[in-house]
Amino acid sequence: MDVVLAGYNIDADIIKELKKRSGWKDDNLTPETLSAAYARISRDPSNIGEIRKKSRKETDKARRSNETIIFGLGHASVAEHAVFNFDITGISRLAVEEVQKYRLASFTEKSQRYIKLDGDCVIPDEIAGTHLEPDFKELINFQNSVYFKLYDVLKGHFFEKFSDKIQTKSGKTMVEGWAKEDARYVVSLATHSQFGMTVNARTLEHMLRRFRASKIGEVRELAQKIYDAVHPLSPSIIKYTDPSIYDTHRDILVSNTIEKLRGKVAIDSWDQVPVKLVKTTKKADTVLCAAILYNYNGGDMESCLGSASRLTKKMKEELIKSTLKNRECWDRVERAFEMVEFEYELVVSASNYAQLKRHRISTQIVQDYDVFLNYTVPPSVVETGMTPVFSEVMKRSGEFYDTIKKVYPSSKNYALTNAHRRRVLLKLNARELYHFVSLRDDEHAQWDIRETASEMKKLAGKSAPLTTMMLSGKSDFVSCRNKIFN
Ligand SMILES: Cc1cc2nc3c(=O)[nH]c(=O)nc-3n(C[C@H](O)[C@H](O)[C@H](O)COP(=O)(O)OP(=O)(O)OC[C@H]3O[C@@H](n4cnc5c(N)ncnc54)[C@H](O)[C@@H]3O)c2cc1C
Repeated sequence: MDVVLAGYNIDADIIKELKKRSGWKDDNLTPETLSAAYARISRDPSNIGEIRKKSRKETDKARRSNETIIFGLGHASVAEHAVFNFDITGISRLAVEEVQKYRLASFTEKSQRYIKLDGDCVIPDEIAGTHLEPDFKELINFQNSVYFKLYDVLKGHFFEKFSDKIQTKSGKTMVEGWAKEDARYVVSLATHSQFGMTVNARTLEHMLRRFRASKIGEVRELAQKIYDAVHPLSPSIIKYTDPSIYDTHRDILVSNTIEKLRGKVAIDSWDQVPVKLVKTTKKADTVLCAAILYNYNGGDMESCLGSASRLTKKMKEELIKSTLKNRECWDRVERAFEMVEFEYELVVSASNYAQLKRHRISTQIVQDYDVFLNYTVPPSVVETGMTPVFSEVMKRSGEFYDTIKKVYPSSKNYALTNAHRRRVLLKLNARELYHFVSLRDDEHAQWDIRETASEMKKLAGKSAPLTTMMLSGKSDFVSCRNKIFN
């Protein structure tokens, strides 16, 4: 066996510097050569190292081959071997949501817990220069002034309430973080953020097509900037970035159809339960046992399901426990757990959603923000008697939202805050639920998403008690394990 390190991503500034110092003239400092080389593996019997060498030497040929293989033959996974990193700054929280929906990419964003906001925000192109701009700026200034006021009040409140925790530097930073985190509920979704993104060429091309079809001008602008940065470097793998008619026309087509069906599809419930378990795998514990038997005992699935349903509850418990024994909180439960699924409906604040959306191994159908869903008030705001000023921000934000909606509907959400809410239909399998609860029903988690995770855990426990027996936040893991395994 031989393993050769064929490539790795390094800082683009270093590449520039090395190019300058060495006078490198060849046009092959592009990840396209790796994609082209790997694409040829399936048909070229030469050693991969040789194939890569050829690809580096003949970049034009490599590019042509990429085009034929990726786009001509549809062997698109070849483009995944080319990976890019981006610094994305000066982008609104609203636009960040559009980017971070994508599952096959990695993101790390500025934390609103550790970084105090400075009031910077995006003025959407649709509003800039119009009669709405002064009012928009005034609203943002008002939201930000309340943020700073709240931060001071909440910091004092938390320092008093958790005086034992602020004795150390790290404890003080943590408690200050809670104040920042709660104060941010009043700031706008137009607020600037920044994040690092790592993404392969295949996903990036897909993102660019979708971004270009976005109703939000800022997202379209982002698409252009990303395209300008990568296309000259990798023209053969970032190629088809025009929005498809499928994406640009779908909204209107579906809306028109719904309009025709209006009588049949009238909405008769506007329930606002924060966490509802809508659906779960029937006989979930039996299904999990069957999947375990399938993996370890053989036979076809029908026979495994038959065997699992003949087991008593005690036997099922013993079987599931045997797969969980010796597990530490960082160990992923085994794949058989993916055969059990949970579908929740959530009503979450923008602040909560900002964290929820980062769980990529789940399916999320997200409705637009809706002022009728009201807003989330952090408990610390209530405890400090700051609810009236908080509510004033919500009132003024809601009013301005209504104003923008009439003129520039696609920009209306810029007026909303981190406290405003939306509905999310969330489907995840039991394996991912273990991971989600471990991170989010934990003492380090932010309280809003922790409440959601804790309720999700409780509801899953009722419908699949054995499957979820070891579901717990990291901080409760040891006590949970001790309870199960004495
Ligand atoms: C207390 C806390 C503080 C946080 N602070 C910040 C912060 O300041 N800034 C910030 O940006 N984020 C922050 N996060 C978010 C965090 O970094 C994760 O993005 C988020 O928790 C989702 O977790 P995940 O990626 O493990 O989950 P999922 O995306 O659901 O993935 C589940 C699992 O699948 C695997 N997986 C999925 N995608 C990949 C991939 N591309 N490569 C390799 N493995 C993959 C991993 O095993 C992963 O654990 C914080 C999270 C917590 C709990």
